Parts: sequence; structure tokens; C-alpha cells
Amino acid sequence: MVDEADVVVVGAGLAGLQCARSLRDRGIHAVVVESGDRPGGRVRTDLVDGFRCDRGFQLLNPAYPAVHRHVDVAALDLRRFGRGVVVAREGGQAVVADPLRHPTLLAATLRSGYVRPTELARLGAWLAPALGPVPRLLAGPDRSRAESLDAGRVTGHLRREVLEPFLAGVLAEDDGSTSVTFVRLLLRSFVRATPGVPALGMQALADQLAEGVDVRLCTRATEVRPGSEVVTDAGTLRARAVVVATDAVDAGDLLAIATPSMKGLRTWWFAADHSPAQATFLRVDGRGPQAGPVVNTAVLTAVAPGYAPRGQHLVQATTLMTGARDEHAVRRQLAELWSVDTGPWGLVTVHDVDRALPRQPAPLDVRRPVDLGGGLFVAGDHRDTGSIQGALVSGARTAHAVAVALGRPA
Ligand SMILES: Cc1cc2nc3c(=O)[nH]c(=O)nc-3n(C[C@H](O)[C@H](O)[C@H](O)COP(=O)(O)OP(=O)(O)OC[C@H]3O[C@@H](n4cnc5c(N)ncnc54)[C@H](O)[C@@H]3O)c2cc1C
Repeated sequence: MVDEADVVVVGAGLAGLQCARSLRDRGIHAVVVESGDRPGGRVRTDLVDGFRCDRGFQLLNPAYPAVHRHVDVAALDLRRFGRGVVVAREGGQAVVADPLRHPTLLAATLRSGYVRPTELARLGAWLAPALGPVPRLLAGPDRSRAESLDAGRVTGHLRREVLEPFLAGVLAEDDGSTSVTFVRLLLRSFVRATPGVPALGMQALADQLAEGVDVRLCTRATEVRPGSEVVTDAGTLRARAVVVATDAVDAGDLLAIATPSMKGLRTWWFAADHSPAQATFLRVDGRGPQAGPVVNTAVLTAVAPGYAPRGQHLVQATTLMTGARDEHAVRRQLAELWSVDTGPWGLVTVHDVDRALPRQPAPLDVRRPVDLGGGLFVAGDHRDTGSIQGALVSGARTAHAVAVALGRPA
């Protein structure tokens, strides 16, 4: 059976959903085929015994311009994290917090030893391009983040014990290989707003974007043929244009194009009867990888109580996929990070996301071509930047290219 549509979009991640929405705004109907049983792709929430476990701990930053443009953030009831981090180090813990948002932590932040004038000045100079106009940032020289920090002589404790552990979780790498331009784009958003999670999980973001979109769930595209035909396990769809909006690896397979490889993250979700902390800060380990595999941990319920059944608390711990998969080591490190006995914590679930983020080495290519010719288009974070911002931009940008090709660019 051949089903007809204006446009077929393969993949109901944020890029595919935004693409379909932007097409709809132009009066073009898109059918979205999605192999999974929910929309959202990498932005999903599993309900496990009443706990809301995002499929990989992640945060929504309302400062992303595309979020501002396409998402009704107020409707998500965003619960924001604290503006700072708690750092575990030899002999104790330290807090580094934004004094404007957390004035009561000013003294503790100054006492932390991380706020030293020379390194702070160097870090400020290194960060400065992130705070100027984006076109200038994109046009500037690019290199790996490690080389860039070395060149800026940001070499002290603040880098080693705070910035790098924090970035490892955000970038899914601890080898410093990511483009510094991308890192500055990310930090720009962190400076402008405090990220958080929707009160009822990241799935709320995907569900909002999926509203009114014609998504066919549990439908896998197995082949994309010339002439804008998509063969799926539920039949063949013929359209005037096809957009492949999968992750980089699936796009490479379906379209036989070169795409970046991807980096993985593993999230451990634990249930606790007692909250290990009321603070809403992310915790990182400043003692280096030898301290254990956890790159960051947070009490989700301190930020968004709806993530757990009443009276329960939910703690996430993120490790790189390259780290050891050893629950004992994770629990031991968490006991040190939270200063509690983690033995009684129940393991709710573990999310292994082998393909969390596309690799983004320097030079960063933020606008890869989306029109492959012959009615075939490609969208996804790997075409723009590996982030919620990048996925949304990519979806909207590809919709524009499709509309132009169909003669309806308005
Ligand atoms: C653990 C983790 C933490 C993250 N943290 C952050 C963060 O804090 N901030 C941030 O901005 N970003 C973060 N990200 C990145 C962000 O989630 C992604 O960049 C974004 O969601 C990518 O969206 P996408 O639509 O490009 O791709 P995807 O979400 O991968 O969507 C692709 C969709 O295509 C479907 N599909 C694939 N093949 C087929 C097929 N053959 N037929 C039909 N359907 C198919 C998939 O099932 C999927 O639904 C994180 C990601 C992960 C995994």
C-alpha cells in the first residue's frame, strides 16, 4: 500500500517535531514516522515505579534562542537548579555559587579557594567571546577546549576541579576534544539563564512539541528511495519531500552520507527515603577520574518534587559511557559526594545512551547543508549543534528549505 503525504519526516525527536510544526505553520502537512513508542527521541521520561527518570539526565536552558522562539516554557513549569556547583575535593566539599542569585553563599564561595584573582581574570578573558555577538563568536578562531584553556593560561584549581568536571558531563567527554566555539555557545546560555527541568519530566517538552503533529509511532523507516518514497515496516509512504530527522548514526545509515560519530552517557537513578541534601546544586567531583566514574550527580526531587512519589527522593548520577559500569563504584563515590550511606538507596533504573551527543571537534560547523537534492532533506542536532537548541534550529531550518523547494517559502 502506498500512502501519500506532502512531506514525510523520519524521526519524532525535537528536530523532526519542530520541522513538522514549522511546515504546518506554512500550510504544509507532514507525516512523522517514529520507530519509538513515544515522541521525543533523546528527550524522554520513563515512569518507573512512580519515579520520573529522564532518559539520560538533561536540562532545558530557557536562554536557548530556539527554546524562546518555539517552546511555551511557562507551560512546562520549569524547575530551576541552583546557580552554582558543589565540588567534592580532598578533605571536604566546597560551594561555588553565583553571589547575585545566592547572596548567602558569598562567604562560602570566597572561602572555597576557587575565586583567585589571577585565574578568575584569565577565565573571564577566555570566556569573553561567549558574551559578545554570536556571529563574531562563530567567525572567530576555533580549536579544542583543552588547547584553548591552555593558551589562555587557565591552568589552576578552578579549571581542574570545577570547570572540567562540570564540562565532562555536559559534553560527554573528558579528553578536552570538543570545539571551544561550541563550549562558549553553551556557556553563553548558562550565563544568561539557569537551566532546569519541567516539573513532570523532560517528556513534557517533547509532548508539547508533538501536540497537533501527525506522528505515527512504532513505525520504523527501513529505506528512503529516490522519488521521495519512504519504506516503513507499516507500508510505503510517498511524498513531495522527505526529511530524515534521526540522530547522526541512523541518518548516515539511511542516507549513506557522512555524519559525525557520537558520544555516550549513562545515568543511574536511585531512590532514597531521605534526601541527601536540600540544595538544588549539581555536584561534581574535583578529585579527578581516579575518584570514580561519576561526573555529576543531583537530587532531582530537591528541584522538582514531582519526579518521585510523595515522601521519596530521586538522585541521578551520570557517568561517561567510557567509564566503568560498576554499581558498587558508583555507590561508593556517591557516598563520598553526598556524605551519606548510599547502601539503603534503591536502584530505580540505569539509562545507557550510547548515542547521546554528536562529536563536535574544531572547527565547529554549525550550519551543515540540509538539502541533499532530489526532494531529500536531513535534519537533526548533528546538522547544527548537539543540543536542544541545535535540534530545534535544525528542524526549523530544514522546514524552511523544504518549503522553498516546494515553492511555498512564506
Ligand atoms: C543523556 C543526554 C543528556 C543530554 N543533555 C542535554 C542538555 O542538558 N542540554 C541540551 O541542550 N541537550 C542535551 N542533550 C542533547 C539533546 O537531547 C539532543 O541534542 C536532542 O534531543 C537531539 O534531537 P534530535 O531530534 O536531533 O535527535 P533524536 O532525539 O535522536 O531524534 C531522532 C528520532 O528518530 C527516531 N528514529 C531513528 N531511526 C528511525 C527510523 N529508521 N525510523 C523512524 N524513526 C527513527 C528515533 O527513535 C528518535 O526518536 C542530551 C542528550 C542526552 C542523550
